[in-house]
Amino acid sequence: MSGVVYVAYLLAAVFFILSLKGLSSHETAKAGNYYGMAGMAIAIIATIADPSVTRYWLLIPAIAIGAYVGVQKARAVEMTEMPQLIALLHSFVGLAAVLISWAGYLDPKAITLSGAAQTIHLVEIYLGIFIGAVTLTGSLIAWGKLNGNISGKPLTLPFRHGLNAIALLICAAMLYYFIQHPHAGVSTFFLVLMTVIALAIGLHLVAAIGGADMPVVVSMLNSYSGWAAAATGFMLGNDLLIVVGALVGSSGAILSYIMCKGMNRSFISVIMGGFGTDSTSTSTSSEIEGTAIEVFAPEVADELDSAKSVIIVPGFGMAVAHAQQAVKELTEQLQSRGCKVRFGIHPVAGRLPGHMNVLLAEANVPYDIVLEMDEINDDFTSTDVVMVIGANDTVNPDAMEKPDSPIAGMPVLKVWEANTVIVLKRSLASGYAGVENPLFFRDNTRMLFGDAKESLQQILKEM
Ligand code: NDP
Repeated sequence: MSGVVYVAYLLAAVFFILSLKGLSSHETAKAGNYYGMAGMAIAIIATIADPSVTRYWLLIPAIAIGAYVGVQKARAVEMTEMPQLIALLHSFVGLAAVLISWAGYLDPKAITLSGAAQTIHLVEIYLGIFIGAVTLTGSLIAWGKLNGNISGKPLTLPFRHGLNAIALLICAAMLYYFIQHPHAGVSTFFLVLMTVIALAIGLHLVAAIGGADMPVVVSMLNSYSGWAAAATGFMLGNDLLIVVGALVGSSGAILSYIMCKGMNRSFISVIMGGFGTDSTSTSTSSEIEGTAIEVFAPEVADELDSAKSVIIVPGFGMAVAHAQQAVKELTEQLQSRGCKVRFGIHPVAGRLPGHMNVLLAEANVPYDIVLEMDEINDDFTSTDVVMVIGANDTVNPDAMEKPDSPIAGMPVLKVWEANTVIVLKRSLASGYAGVENPLFFRDNTRMLFGDAKESLQQILKEM
């Protein structure tokens, strides 16, 4: 590899680090994206320019087709479909790691290695295939669940943790034999068998995870895809791939950890798959009693008219209804009347981390009134009106009050502590976790049924 390519790789790595730093806050997120794009452009050009790359007739059409498909997909994707797309893209990283590692094994040059160099190379191949295969099927199952093609219900096979442990032990034993006799026919068979077992592990790990826990799974698969890329980087001796893989792997792991903390889940049980699916967590709150009180736009406008403080809590429904612009108009309208308006954002509101922040930023809602759950959760008691716009699981009091609820222990926004809660949604249907919400039946809750955007427009008209 030439010196120029090394320098380019270093530069690209710096851009990727700047990108991650930029993405950590709203104000700098756009710049973070540009740094990431610049880093990736440098990385691709430097890799293509490497003297060892010769088959341009294969490479250029592949890049052109990939770029075309990527641009089309990015243009067409709805914000609400983003998590599915991310999960699908992770599966590509997994597939690439499997294919490249297999190519590394079949490459005749690998036979010329000996001693420790050969052992390291074989372990890299083995791990690249293993992590890649787990990522591939795990991501495909996550994609199917998020898409609704596969049921969000956890698959709970009897002795499932034991099955995973046995599969891991078999893979470890085969690795030992593989290192000792790398090119014996039986080793090739073991590599095939390990690939199949790893594919099954990925499938089983994610199938065992329930709908409400999918956000953590998506970020965990992000982490796995990073480690798969790093393993491939070691195998190819490509420093940039190692650095980028490590950045993706560690940032995904940190994000998973933060989300686990946010949802009060154990990080270890997520990594093992199937957390939050204890047999005790089966209640669906079907025994909720009481009647939901329905209101209409004029009453809501009156209520808001006399409110001195309002907190808006958006959720997935705001994204579906494309209601962010109407939310912004309502905010301005209320502010112009001297009302204090703030937003309360749950860490897993919507369908991907930061989903609500992105939508509100798109509608130019000022960042300083958009607060995280921990910053605002104690303020509901002193708030006149809370507007819950298409949120459901993230404002479910059962999470705090009902130990046998499937979402028990997940921190939620304590909206019910406000004087009046107005919920904008189309029906009393449950949210992503499939759990009923007693908030809708509380004495201080008013339900404004209908599409969130249309309801907001009616309220604005009345005001
Ligand atoms: P929920 O998914 O709990 O609820 C959304 C609600 O929006 C639904 O109950 C639905 O009710 C309502 N809705 C849908 N369309 C409209 C519309 N056009 N107008 C008005 N309301 C509408 O949302 P939350 O944001 O509260 O919670 C997010 C959930 O998603 C959590 O369970 C989280 O774990 C999960 N999740 C989060 C991810 C993340 O990274 N953020 C990723 C994957 C899952 P109705 O049908 O009655 O209108």
